[in-house]
Amino acid sequence: MLSSQPRVLCLSGLDPAGGAGLQADIETLAAHGVHAFGLITALTVQDSHNVRRVVATDPALLDEQLSVLLADARPDAVKLGLLGGSAQLPVIATHLARLAVPVVCDPVLRAGGGTDLATAQFPAALRARLLPLVTVLTPNAAEARRLVPAAATLAECAAALLADGCARVLVTGGDEPGASVINWAWRGDGSTRHWQWPRLPETFHGAGCTLASAIAARLALGDGLDDALDAGQRWTQAALTRAISIGSGRRIPGRLPA
Ligand code: PLP
Repeated sequence: MLSSQPRVLCLSGLDPAGGAGLQADIETLAAHGVHAFGLITALTVQDSHNVRRVVATDPALLDEQLSVLLADARPDAVKLGLLGGSAQLPVIATHLARLAVPVVCDPVLRAGGGTDLATAQFPAALRARLLPLVTVLTPNAAEARRLVPAAATLAECAAALLADGCARVLVTGGDEPGASVINWAWRGDGSTRHWQWPRLPETFHGAGCTLASAIAARLALGDGLDDALDAGQRWTQAALTRAISIGSGRRIPGRLPA
């Protein structure tokens, strides 16, 4: 009997520690019964504490990989994570424009351990080249501010990012102070939703990748945007409460069956 699964195309970095990046995507998607197409945008040197070095994939190789894969197979959604610099943006944008499926973009600009993962020009280039093609953008509060440095508030950040062309902005508040974590979503019409989650007593490695992949999984399974944001956050929060230790640094979400 023929069978098929929903599929998500992931463009992400490779974290040898297996907490973030493409491994986080594959584990999250598999846990949702969704197949992952996986392209590595950058190799990294890192452990469970921090990223030490990023080596970007040649944009021409990425283009060839995407051309060959997408001539054969069609994903139901796309998840973008760490990208290998501005030179990859035109290639990714060209393929996304042809695909016309929901795109979840986690604009990874800095590692939780503190290493800067983007050049000074990258945030503006990402906004100009990719946001018109993005369905859900999932910055944390620091990333939202860095994407829109002129904004005075997170609401102003979201308004500018929506004006660039994405359909929803979900700003996660794990990096903000407060007794609970508050995540805010803005729609293009200016309406908002927010979610309040218990603040867990530690910071994690790979939480953002996990959340963006969980939302992409729900979209690939057919959820509407609002349901995908609900379910993706619920699933990620549950994975964080089951976090596992893989080294001497931050723990990673528990994405696999115990
Ligand atoms: N490495 C890769 C490949 C990533 O994609 C990311 C974040 O998305 C990181 C490292 C940093 O992850 P974190 O900030 O959760 O430690």
